Amino acid sequence: MPWQLSTEFTFDSAHTITGYDGPCGRLHGHTYRVRLQLQSDRLRPSAHVRRAIMVADFRTLKWAKKDVSQGGLDHAYLNDLPDLGDDTTAEVIAAYLHRETLRRLRDALEPGDDGADLQLRVTLWETPDSACEYWE
Ligand SMILES: [Zn+2]
Repeated sequence: MPWQLSTEFTFDSAHTITGYDGPCGRLHGHTYRVRLQLQSDRLRPSAHVRRAIMVADFRTLKWAKKDVSQGGLDHAYLNDLPDLGDDTTAEVIAAYLHRETLRRLRDALEPGDDGADLQLRVTLWETPDSACEYWE
């Protein structure tokens, strides 16, 4: 893979680990930090430039930074999101970020491009010193 994009951003959200016997079982919040690393073996056009000069648009990658009312995860109660439900651990959120980011990237591809070469690694920090990585 000759290209790798990296981008980082944060979002602030609340959650409860339902059934957790301890403080994580109570309503609380985190400033989550996300690192996305996207590898590709080709360059593509984007919604904002028609020439094939990008792996992906950083604006597409940073969808989760948007307010929850605009489809992101910022200032959300994560347990309210149907794709997460009551299991809002860093592991489950990281897998969701992976799945949803790839879905959005593939939705933006040209007809006939399945994006099979795109490989995404998600790192999600729940606190400054505790993170989960997810890739396939
Ligand atoms: Zn927590």
